[in-house]
Amino acid sequence: MKYIKKKLTIEKASIQNIAARFGTPTYCYSYNQLKENINNFKKNFKSFSPLICFAIKSNTNINLIREIKKFGLGADVVSVGELMMALKAGIDPKKIVFSGVGKTSDEISYAIDKKILLINTESKSEINEIERIAKSKKKIVNIGIRLNPNTDAKTLKQISTGKKENKFGVDEKTFFNLVTYSKSSKNINLKCLSVHIGSQILSHKPYEKMLKVIDRIIQKSNYNFEFIDLGGGMGISYEKNNKKLNYQKYNIAIKKFLKNYNSKIIFEPGRSIIGNTGSLVSKVIYIKESDKKDFIILDAAMNDLMRPALYGANHKTLPALKTNQTSKKTYEFVGPICESTDKFTTLKKFQKLNEKDLVVMCDVGAYGMSLSSNYNVRTKPAEILIKGSNINIIKKRQKVEDLI
Ligand SMILES: *Cc1c(COP(=O)(O)O)cnc(C)c1O
Repeated sequence: MKYIKKKLTIEKASIQNIAARFGTPTYCYSYNQLKENINNFKKNFKSFSPLICFAIKSNTNINLIREIKKFGLGADVVSVGELMMALKAGIDPKKIVFSGVGKTSDEISYAIDKKILLINTESKSEINEIERIAKSKKKIVNIGIRLNPNTDAKTLKQISTGKKENKFGVDEKTFFNLVTYSKSSKNINLKCLSVHIGSQILSHKPYEKMLKVIDRIIQKSNYNFEFIDLGGGMGISYEKNNKKLNYQKYNIAIKKFLKNYNSKIIFEPGRSIIGNTGSLVSKVIYIKESDKKDFIILDAAMNDLMRPALYGANHKTLPALKTNQTSKKTYEFVGPICESTDKFTTLKKFQKLNEKDLVVMCDVGAYGMSLSSNYNVRTKPAEILIKGSNINIIKKRQKVEDLI
């Protein structure tokens, strides 16, 4: 995304044209950015050619999943709905892993029928349920066990998952017990050790620590895991001063780890594949002046983009058309919803805005549309995919009638 003759442009489409054609708020995705992200991800780890399972929960647009599938990626799903979505997008069941702390009997049953690669389990009671269902179907089911490596991902506490106080995975002792238990079971085949320590991780160090823990635990359990699923969590730069994850160092740590094992590595990236491909275009409805700051009331709200309200996340915000005027007052960008958390960002010295101006929130491709809701009976935005000068609608804007 860049300014061409003062017009903010995604590939060859200007934001102004997009808004005129599709209305606002609208999610726009750049195909070429997606392609670049996937190719870079593959390149970073090419020496051990991992299975890359896109975390569907980060973006559930089926047309984007279809594009991702064309690059050979599999899927990490966390519900039967996501599993159906991945299959419908044409992803090979042998490239699908099913994660999550609480899969219901129906979900497990469906996953077994579809012969997916792995069900990653997180508790003894879940393993027992998988076993029961597998037995009733006279099947042997491939599972992974998710270890909680008690590793601090040094990310926001709301998106940290790998510490012992988090609900995810099982502790060391339980892990060993479950390995022993699985070995004796006739209906489950333990194939994978999985971890996922959190999201938006910007340092390779937590990953290094996690690998050391895994290494120690595999040696202690004396079990040959066909797959080691390292989860996702690779962070992206939301702000200029954000650090960048050093993929090279992460890669080196994995290569070192693999010297002792012949396991296949699985990754489950979401944000790092889709995050920076998406932008949310929105229009200024009103400007409400006050003493200390002016409120810029947008037609996008927390139901369209939940991350600021949910995690205190901040998205880079840009005007669609550059002028040379700067506002003297601080701007607080808010939506029209009746919640005080319905605000996006507060910026000083932003370009002076007027009613009907367009603004763009950047890097909203992950956990943007997929976290959207119909709160306040607000319709969900349209989604479009831009490929050079080609613009395709990949999800129509909801209509109020759909909701009533
Ligand atoms: C959310 C999640 C991911 C994806 O995380 P990102 O930070 O988007 O890469 C991967 N694996 C599991 C188990 C998850 O819950």
